[in-house]
Amino acid sequence: MIAASFDYVAADSVAGAIELLAEHGEDAKLLAGGHSLLPMMKLRLATPEVLIDIGRIEELRGITAEGSDLVIGAATRHGELAASALAAELAPLLAHAAAQVGDPQIRHRGTIGGSLAHGDPAADLPMALVALGGSVVLAGPDGTRTVGADDFFTGYFETALDPGELLTQVRVPAAPGRPWGYQKFTRRANDWAIVGVAAADGRIALANMGPVPIRARAVEAALAGGASPAQAAQAAAEGTSPGQDIHADRGYREHLARVLTRRALEGQTS
Ligand SMILES: Cc1cc2nc3c(=O)[nH]c(=O)nc-3n(C[C@H](O)[C@H](O)[C@H](O)COP(=O)(O)OP(=O)(O)OC[C@H]3O[C@@H](n4cnc5c(N)ncnc54)[C@H](O)[C@@H]3O)c2cc1C
Repeated sequence: MIAASFDYVAADSVAGAIELLAEHGEDAKLLAGGHSLLPMMKLRLATPEVLIDIGRIEELRGITAEGSDLVIGAATRHGELAASALAAELAPLLAHAAAQVGDPQIRHRGTIGGSLAHGDPAADLPMALVALGGSVVLAGPDGTRTVGADDFFTGYFETALDPGELLTQVRVPAAPGRPWGYQKFTRRANDWAIVGVAAADGRIALANMGPVPIRARAVEAALAGGASPAQAAQAAAEGTSPGQDIHADRGYREHLARVLTRRALEGQTS
């Protein structure tokens, strides 16, 4: 479990990171908290020749309110987001999701940008971003673009990020008092979700029920049509394609999606 050898370079600005990405091309990988990338390198599932460290870029850190959005810098750590009074006020679901990631050591190093860019369908923050209708800002050699959460996750561990781009900001519509619910079913406290559900004001997202975090659109439609949470939750597995693994088969994940969706909806707070 030792990574292949690699070179290391620290970027000191977003522009510098983009230049380094252009210089090293497909041989390079961005390094943020390292809590997904380094395990993959140790397993030789990733063998980058150059790591470009973006963890010390000050302009990628911080949590602010801008107009009608809560804005989180990509290199902001899960622990900072979980402890942020501003995030708790403007997007409490996001702060809560950050607090559910792994354990204190992981939250101390892992970043929101790294979690979203990694694109794990079982992860907490991608599901939360989809439920909140948030977006990400991507910067590359041709400038910046904003991509909505529904379009950002394109496949299993795949996103809309182009090879020369980095994710710089996460934006979430500020909605103090918006009702939200969150359910994460795990075997051990610091695990990824076997199934997860995030609900925010009529939008429902599921974790680990397909190759990307997905909207439970049949549940949303049932709620909009006046169904009770218990009735609407029965549709939670519609349109999903969960995999099977040592933790759960497909039928059990579908059962969990229904049960957890009902709990998320019935337990909503604001
Ligand atoms: C034991 C353990 C338990 C965990 N439990 C959970 C859990 O319960 N829930 C959960 O959601 N996650 C969990 N994680 C994952 C954790 O949240 C990681 O921190 C996160 O997935 C990746 O963030 P990072 O900053 O460490 O990214 P890194 O590992 O540094 O990078 C991950 C990937 O994203 C790319 N990348 C990083 N930043 C950017 C950027 N700004 N722009 C473009 N690309 C970028 C990297 O090149 C790499 O491909 C766990 C991890 C471990 C080791």
